[in-house]
Amino acid sequence: MNYIDRVLENLVKKNPGEKEFHQAVTEALKSVEPVINSNKIYEEFSILERLTEPERAISFRVSWKDDNNKIHVNKGYRVQFNSCIGPFKGGLRFHPSVNLSIMKFLAFEQTFKNAITGLPIGGAKGGSDFDPKNKSDFEIMNFCQSFMLELFRHIGASTDVPAGDIGVGAREIGYLFGYYKKIKNLHEGVLTGKGLDYDGLAGRKEATGFGLIYFTEEMLRENGESLKNKTVCVSGAGNVAIHTVQKAQEYGAKVITMSDSSGWIYDKNGINLEIIKKIKENNRDRISRYLEFEPSAKYTSGKFNWDIPCDVALPCATQNEILLSDAKNLVKNGVKFVSEGANMPTSLDATNYFVENKIIFGPAKAANAGGVSSSVIEMSQNSSKMTFDSEFSHNKLESIMKSIFKNVSQTACEFNQKGNYILGANILGFKKVASAMISEGVV
Ligand code: NDP
Repeated sequence: MNYIDRVLENLVKKNPGEKEFHQAVTEALKSVEPVINSNKIYEEFSILERLTEPERAISFRVSWKDDNNKIHVNKGYRVQFNSCIGPFKGGLRFHPSVNLSIMKFLAFEQTFKNAITGLPIGGAKGGSDFDPKNKSDFEIMNFCQSFMLELFRHIGASTDVPAGDIGVGAREIGYLFGYYKKIKNLHEGVLTGKGLDYDGLAGRKEATGFGLIYFTEEMLRENGESLKNKTVCVSGAGNVAIHTVQKAQEYGAKVITMSDSSGWIYDKNGINLEIIKKIKENNRDRISRYLEFEPSAKYTSGKFNWDIPCDVALPCATQNEILLSDAKNLVKNGVKFVSEGANMPTSLDATNYFVENKIIFGPAKAANAGGVSSSVIEMSQNSSKMTFDSEFSHNKLESIMKSIFKNVSQTACEFNQKGNYILGANILGFKKVASAMISEGVV
């Protein structure tokens, strides 16, 4: 059995039941095969074994009181996966589906993604199975304070800098930051995604969605196309989806779908984003309300099955939202490009189906790296005690995303796989992290 297969077999044995973690590692290791096979140093230094075991995985109890003084208990996590190229960095997710496997897959992916940006940050992820839906602001605050009461001892501006993710936006980051400052008596850039009224970066909120479109436009251009006049399906209606739609529309694309966990809408005239923002950003309401404002649109409850003809598909909700049957729907209906805004939104068999059918594919670890890149701009704003304006931050984001695309594309070409951005992204991230691990010795 070869080195990669042995590592994968052991990983499954040592981490039973962690299916999302197995999936993320399998996808990454399979595509770095050409590098592993051509250089024995990685096996000599046990790089794959070390790269797939988190440096630290913290699990803790979060007790909090609701508005009726009833006590609840949730699980809290911080998985600090790899710090060889910089302080741990990665978001916090509050969602009932959160478990150790999801935390580990996200932290593992984040390690590659952060390396691909070329910026000095390691990989981590954290969160809780707490569900912020239908909670009052006070309940959210109580929960965030209790969560921080344990997390604070593991993080710091030069140690580990969390950010937002599903269920964690500016409101939650504000409560977390306020409590960290209170406990530590320290005003430092320990979190990113902060509000603009206290140290946040202009443009951070938009960065993942805008970055996805910068990357996707580069990918289309390399293949002789552009987003202008393309029909686009987007999933999700949260932070990433909203800003993806905004920038895609600015580039002249027509976005016809969006979704949430209850269902999805199809507006053949093009999504009216102001309505979505009204429903989602202030009220955190259901997407079905879109029809109150645009009665000619269609709403379908349940999972989005991607069975709407489009040129470009941009999944921006959650992991494994494009399954093989969805990929078949997209290919049957003529999709040409898929670019991932969410983390690992495409299952392994669906990804393989796209590749077999010559669909141009932008993998999440490169395509959605705009959020973390902008977070690093926020970290440098905080440590320099300056305030960067939104023009500076948007221009910097655009140039980082273009250079990520260029480096991913060049890496694929070096391995005679022009246009295979999955392979390009994985090899680029792997080589950077592995080389730093070798330089830093056995730690
Ligand atoms: P939000 O919480 O703002 O939005 C998430 C959206 O996805 C909501 O519309 C939500 O619907 C929907 N959703 C969540 N879970 C499911 C599910 N199981 N099935 C169907 N729909 C679901 O999160 P973000 O926009 O921040 O994150 C979206 C994705 O992007 C995630 O994969 C995240 O890891 C990734 N990402 C985010 C970054 C960021 O900067 N925020 C950076 C890089 C990646 P509902 O409201 O009904 O739950």
